[in-house]
This record gives sequence, structure tokens and C-alpha cells, in this order.
Amino acid sequence: MRNALGMLRFAHAHPGVTRAEAAARLGMSSGSATEIMGRLRAAGLLAEVAAPSGGRGRPTTVLVPHPSGPLVAVVELTHAAWRVTTAAIGGELAPAPPHRHSGAPETVLRDIAAALRALPRDRLAAVAVSVPATVRGTTVVQAATLKWRDVDLSVLGLGLPLTVGNDAALAGVAEALRGAARGHAVALHLTVEVGVGGVVLIDGAPAPGAAEFGHVPFGDPALACPCGAYGCWDVTVDGRAMARSLDRPPPADPRLFADEVLAAARSGAPAAHAAAASAAAALGRGVGALLNALDPAVVTLGGLGADLLKYPSFSEAVRRAAMSWRRAELPPILPAALGSDGPAVGAAESAFAGILEDLVARR
Ligand SMILES: [Zn+2]
Repeated sequence: MRNALGMLRFAHAHPGVTRAEAAARLGMSSGSATEIMGRLRAAGLLAEVAAPSGGRGRPTTVLVPHPSGPLVAVVELTHAAWRVTTAAIGGELAPAPPHRHSGAPETVLRDIAAALRALPRDRLAAVAVSVPATVRGTTVVQAATLKWRDVDLSVLGLGLPLTVGNDAALAGVAEALRGAARGHAVALHLTVEVGVGGVVLIDGAPAPGAAEFGHVPFGDPALACPCGAYGCWDVTVDGRAMARSLDRPPPADPRLFADEVLAAARSGAPAAHAAAASAAAALGRGVGALLNALDPAVVTLGGLGADLLKYPSFSEAVRRAAMSWRRAELPPILPAALGSDGPAVGAAESAFAGILEDLVARR
């Protein structure tokens, strides 16, 4: 049982691994790896396909998810759209189109529940939800961009284990396990969409507690934030900040507006460039402050953050905010490797973490 769980976890964490390599890394003999794979195959969890030949080693196989194996249903909700997809062992997401939504919780949850019921129920082992919100248990406590307060998502559980997580925190989990922060003991991930969210990861797991980095007052103390506080970092790093720099009214969709400003900046418009560079500086100032506070070994930036990171004003602001001893040894600050799939990949990982043991024990 323990060896079977070890093999399943290893194959899940290392898609494309060969049986020979997994056996070597797990310290198993070739004979016991063959026997354990036989059990995992019979349990409908893993399968094997011939490895591409090459090299002089003995022929081996690649461990893949069983074709009728368990799936995690993944719900990704953003301020403007939702999508429902599945992830198999190994973490790969099935392609699924996004659907625009009106924002009314009853309608959004009804439509998502209908999409979940259309998935192959006999293969589903858990449901994982990513939301742009502060989450407690399965409840959305506050989602500023959706304007939701205290919305219970347990209706999406289908009677299966249900995990609900904050989108930026889940993107951080994805970067730590499968992306740019992989292999680092302490990582900081920040996603900038409308405002900024993030998480500190310790050995791939989120540090406990709701980290509301966007509502730390790294911003202008005179500016009110929709959260109710003044001076929040949130409103200085996104499309709302760019609109203020450009003397434009608050945009209806700040994320879309930011993309338009970045495109205009790329085509050489000086005012757009100045607005983007100013948001990049505000982002860098806060990142520098968080380096002082948290001392991560790597920082990953997703969403708009991956674009703002390229502006010289970003790195200049990081350096100015960092304590002088730290400037000589700043950690790498990298664009998120998983891009817009980060929250969904992280949601699937959070669910798999809770069910792999049970899947082996049950079958
Ligand atoms: Zn705030």
C-alpha cells in the first residue's frame, strides 16, 4: 500500500516519467516496480505506454493516467467568466471554453452546477474551485471584483470532497509544484489582475492564513480601496491605477483596460508607457518590501505582473525598497510559467493532495 501510494504520487508529480526512473528514484527493485504497477493498473489508477526508444538501457515504459481513471472536476471563476474542466492524475487539464457571466451569484452557481453535472460522474473523485476572493472553508467571504459577500459554494460539491481556494494562492501552489518556483523551499507568488493577490509557499504548500497582500498599505494613503481601507497596494498596480495616470474615468473592466494600455505602450504611445511604468514601479515597491519581510528564495509574478516585471521602473523600485545588504543578493523574480492556467492547475493539485491516499486505499 505504501509503495503503491509512493508510485502514484511520483507519477502524479512527474508526468512523463518512465517506470525505470520512478523505480530508481523511489529505491525500488525493477521487480517490485513491475508488481506495484500491475496493482495500480488493475485499480484503474495508472497505465503504461511504451517509452520512445533511444539510449542503451533496457526497454521501459512511461507511466500515464489510466484511460478510465479518476478525475478532479475543476471550476475556475474570475471576475468576468467561469469555466468547468477536469484534471487527470499527472495534473493535465482537459480543454474547456470560458463562459462570460453576469456576476449574480444564484445564476453563476446554477450554470456552473449544470456544467459539473454534465461531466462523467462515475470518474469524478473530487471537486476543486478557484475564486478571486477571500475564502473560509467552502464560503466566499468577500470577493471585491465579483461584489460577492458570504456566498456558500457547497452546492458545487456533487456530494464529493470539495476544496475552494483563492485564485492567486492556487496559482502559487501551481508555480511551486509544476512551474517557475519548483524546487525552492520558500517562494512568494503574486498575481496581478484587478488588484494583487498572493501566497507564501513553504515546500510547495501555502503558509496558513489568508494573505491579503493587496490590502497592505503600500499604496497612496489618500486613496480609498473598495475593501473599505485606505492606502491599499491593490489600487496602485492595475488598470484602475493606469486610468488615474491617464486622467481617465475608472474602467468598467480594469484588467481589459490594462491590456489596452500595455498594447498602446508597446506601440510607442508615451502617455500609455508612463502609466504602465508607474504601475510597474508601484508593484516593484511592494515586492521589495515583501522581500524584506518574507525573505523568499524566489518570486513568481502572474497575470499583469508578468508584463509589468519587464519595465525597468519595476526592478528599480524593487532595489530602492530592498534593504541595502539585500540588494547584492536579490532572489530571482520570474514570470509565472503556467500563465492563465495557474489557478485551475493549483485547484486540481489541492484536491489531488487530499484524495491520492484514499484512491489507493479504496481500490
Ligand atoms: Zn483594500
